[in-house]
Amino acid sequence: MSNVVTNWAGNITFGARRLHRPAALPELQEIVRAGGPLRVLGSGHSFNRMADTTGDLVSLISLPRVVEIAEDRRTVRVDGGIRYGELVDRLDAEGLAVHNMASLPHISVAGAVTTATHGSGVRNGNLATSVAAIELIRGDGELVTLRRGDEDFPGAVVGLGALGVVTALTLDVVPAFEIRQYVYDDLPRASLEQHLPEILAAGYSVSLFTNWQTGDINHAWFKRTDELPEGPLFGARPADGKRHPVPGVAADNSTDQFGVPGPWHARLPHFKMEFTPSTGAELQSEWMVPFDRALEAIDAVARVREKIVPVLQVNEIRTVAADDLWLSMNYERDSLGLHFTWIADTAAVLPAVAALEEQLAPLEARPHWGKVFTQDAATVRSRYPRFSDFQALVAKYDPKGTFRNPWLDDILGH
Ligand SMILES: Cc1cc2nc3c(=O)[nH]c(=O)nc-3n(C[C@H](O)[C@H](O)[C@H](O)COP(=O)(O)OP(=O)(O)OC[C@H]3O[C@@H](n4cnc5c(N)ncnc54)[C@H](O)[C@@H]3O)c2cc1C
Repeated sequence: MSNVVTNWAGNITFGARRLHRPAALPELQEIVRAGGPLRVLGSGHSFNRMADTTGDLVSLISLPRVVEIAEDRRTVRVDGGIRYGELVDRLDAEGLAVHNMASLPHISVAGAVTTATHGSGVRNGNLATSVAAIELIRGDGELVTLRRGDEDFPGAVVGLGALGVVTALTLDVVPAFEIRQYVYDDLPRASLEQHLPEILAAGYSVSLFTNWQTGDINHAWFKRTDELPEGPLFGARPADGKRHPVPGVAADNSTDQFGVPGPWHARLPHFKMEFTPSTGAELQSEWMVPFDRALEAIDAVARVREKIVPVLQVNEIRTVAADDLWLSMNYERDSLGLHFTWIADTAAVLPAVAALEEQLAPLEARPHWGKVFTQDAATVRSRYPRFSDFQALVAKYDPKGTFRNPWLDDILGH
């Protein structure tokens, strides 16, 4: 490619020979019919080679933006290139919302859905669970629609970009709602031991942040629809200033705190759209373990504390409700998510990643598809009961391998 393209983190330089930006669906179908190898580039916020190709990359950014609210106001149909940050204002203006958001609004909806991206909340499924229909261009260039209830649907939604180009998604929506974000400092380890399930359920969305300098939680973030009384909570103190998830980092890019009510899209993400999210210089990993083994999982992380601390910016602990999407990290499991924001140094980070994977193996941890992991693919496959059905689905939708790349070949095992 004439212009070098990297992912958001800069740790992946794409090896593609061309980057297409089709302006209309027939043009995109022609690109697919050329046979690939072809991968879609969403907003590039993944941290591994899943979007990479030595063939062609295609960005959907130049396709017309679509935000079509159904007459019954229960769903919205969006195009395959839109970002949450573009969608949320349009929805909110109509008095509607999506049920949850990731830590940032900058990501594309289709890229988030295909990797089972999630926010937090014991009753909130990941973002893919709001998908009611998916429109995609298969390997043969045909545009097909799959709806909830169709046989292939639960296998296709979290599809890792393997079944085709997602050109549109229909998402469930709910009435717009207000949220208050409260941050508390220094949640003691003893409180986790006594009250972890209650703490994680003490809000619509709850995130605990620790840099593992001690056994305590540096801050606990509670996003709630109602007010919290003044004073300590589970032994933690209300923060005396605005916080960034990474302890000590200036909080300008964080969404508003101190319990000030605000619209769902201005509180559910940790980071504001108009700023660089997170720290901007980082790698990320995340594993999902069964919620009912949450404390065991936190203890497993503690066992490798000395290995992770030198490369760790922050560990976020959050929750995701179970779903029925075959390749969702939350497939049939209420989950605890153990997210790690690392320093931006792959060689230094990988041993810490491997150490965590070893500790979390007895908990059948499932790595986030879009983040850094080193677990061998056979082990990853074994953690998904419907994986062989997914392999068959890929063969059905992309028999000639138009959308394959080395990352996918490895995950699929052939
Ligand atoms: C700062 C930061 C914060 C993050 N916070 C969270 C978080 O809170 N929760 C969480 O779960 N994750 C989080 N992530 C990870 C992120 O949500 C995922 O990596 C997600 O996939 C990013 O979407 P994207 O469009 O940027 O994907 P990309 O990296 O562009 O692509 C990801 C995959 O999707 C495929 N793809 C994209 N669009 C399409 C399409 N239209 N059709 C077919 N395939 C497609 C690509 O080919 C690729 O395989 C974060 C990432 C960053 C950088």
